[in-house]
Formats: sequence, C-alpha cells, structure tokens
Amino acid sequence: MLTVNAYGATSATEPLAPMTVERRDLGPHDVLIDIKFAGICHSDIHTARGEWGGTAYPVVPGHEIAGVVAEVGSEVTKHSVGDRVGVGCMVDSCGECVNCQAGEEQYCLKGNIGTYNAVGKDGQPTQGGYSTHVVVTEAFVLRIPDGLELDVAAPLLCAGVTLFSPLNHWGAGPGKRVAIVGLGGLGHMGVKIAHAMGAEVTVLSQSLKKQEDGLRLGADHYYATSDPDTFTQLAGSFDLIVNTVSANIDLDAYLGMLAVNGTLVEVGAPENPMTVAAFSLIPNRRSIAGSMIGGIPETQQMLDFCAEHNLGAEIEVISADKINEAYERVVASDVRYRFVIDTSTLS
Ligand SMILES: [Zn+2]
Ligand SMILES: [Zn+2]
Repeated sequence: MLTVNAYGATSATEPLAPMTVERRDLGPHDVLIDIKFAGICHSDIHTARGEWGGTAYPVVPGHEIAGVVAEVGSEVTKHSVGDRVGVGCMVDSCGECVNCQAGEEQYCLKGNIGTYNAVGKDGQPTQGGYSTHVVVTEAFVLRIPDGLELDVAAPLLCAGVTLFSPLNHWGAGPGKRVAIVGLGGLGHMGVKIAHAMGAEVTVLSQSLKKQEDGLRLGADHYYATSDPDTFTQLAGSFDLIVNTVSANIDLDAYLGMLAVNGTLVEVGAPENPMTVAAFSLIPNRRSIAGSMIGGIPETQQMLDFCAEHNLGAEIEVISADKINEAYERVVASDVRYRFVIDTSTLS
C-alpha cells in the first residue's frame, strides 16, 4: 500500500481539506501514475456535497487526471515508465459484456467503475485525482500525445470526451450545422472540437457576455437564448444541438431549431424531468438523445484529435488550498473555462 497526499471531503457540509488515501500495491496489469494536474468538474462538486445522493465519505474527487507513469506492473505492455498519461471518469469495467467488448465501457452492463466514489475490483473504495498518485489498470490509462501540455490536457479526460463523443457519433463535420448550448467547461470544448471537425458552429448562450470568447474559440455565430427572436430566427436550422446546460430548458423551443432528421443531445444533467410535446419531434423527424462520456478507444481518439488540432482546454491553474474557492466560482459560473489543480501543491 502506498499512502499518498490528497484533498477531499469528509462530509457533505464540510469544506474539502487535506487528507491521505491508500493506493493499492501494483498488480501485474496496474500502472502507478504520478499525477501532475487534475481538473475540477461540476460532478466533483455534486459528489463532494452529496447532491446526487450515495456519496461515501471520505471522498477524494477528480476524474480529469493527467500525469506521468512512475511504475508499471510485471505484465503491463501498453505503458512504460515516463509515459505521459491520463485517466478520465472510469478506472475499470467488467471487460466481458457486449458494450465493453465494443469499447463502450462507459455503458458496461454491470456498470463501469468510477474513478472516485465507487468500489474497485479489489473491494476498496476508489479515490480520485485530487491526489499525488493513483493506481489504475493499464486498459483504462490513456496516452497523452506529446503535442498536448498536461495541464490543458487534464480537462479533456471528462469535458473533452463528453463533447467529442456526441459530435463524433452524430457526424459533426463539413456541411453540418452544429449548435452548442452553454459556453462553460463542457461547451467551450464543444465549440473547439466541432470547429476543428469542420462543422459550422453556433453558440446558444443565455446572454452575449461571452460572445467574443465564443468566436475566438471557433464559433461562427453566437446567439442569446434570453432573446425570444433567437428561436424564430434559427427555426429549423441545425443538424445537431448539444445541450451542456444542467438546468431545465424549454425542450420544445430548442427542438424547433432542428432541421429535418436533426438531433438534440443532452449531456447536461438537470435534476428534474423535462417535458416534450410529440409535435416538436414529429414534423421534422427529429430526435432527442443523450450521451455519456466516451469509451476508452474513443477517449484515445479524442486525445489524438485534440493533439493534432492543438486543442487544449482554456484553464486557470490553482493550488490545492484554493479548491473550495474554486468550487464556489464554478457554481457561480465564474471560470473561463476550467480550474485545474497543480497537484505538486498537495505535499
Ligand atoms: Zn466530469
Ligand atoms: Zn462490461
């Protein structure tokens, strides 16, 4: 067992604080990663604060991990000491079901094993990336190409793949009109990736406050959803809308902006159910769908794509003692666009 420094929550109501966690001894297929950077995802906050229920304390959040391989198990073939690597939202899955076999481990029929607040195959609770080291089975460790700095690569492991997967699945590319709803941690990666894929990209944001940023990141158009004219002006004009907003939206109004065969994909996770009128779907053969992160092969594809197109996240690097402050700012949408913890400050 390796005892390592970490930062985590001991209850839903206490601020996060320094702590230590145990990392298992290396099994034959395990990789020990010296974590350099960990992104702060909104899911970390929901879990640390027990807002989704089922949080087992103490919990060390963090599923946007970038670091360097420090040690490998005796049978590891995929990674070597010194390799630049990343870990996202999952650290294992059954490996045998139809979805795992298809490289869609996120949809494992037995449930994928989360990077934190889950139970590993060794029966121990998993603890996340707000720590100096982590042990992960080699199959769930991704290669970070040389072209990507580790700090801007970290958020790609959740935010990046969460947007890449639906854009990839629904064929964003030349001739496709794609709208990204919300320009936050997820949305800003959606704009960058959809633009790099060659799609015509529109940002639909509550206000025009971040318009300059949106256009700089690669959007062709930018509209405010607080302006009712937006919905009439853009009626029937998108092939794909990816909604990153975690609050209830007027689905019928958004569906109205889809062209024939268009799809609205939910990646945000609002707490309450939303309603939809059948006649928002029927006239243009529209679809409404959801998407959850991406499988391991697709996550690697995303990292390679981002390196090739020089797409890192827009980040603000912080020291560990600023994590609680960063949480407040994420909740207030006061970050452009992702906080990344420098884990060297955990010692
Ligand atoms: Zn996340
Ligand atoms: Zn499975």
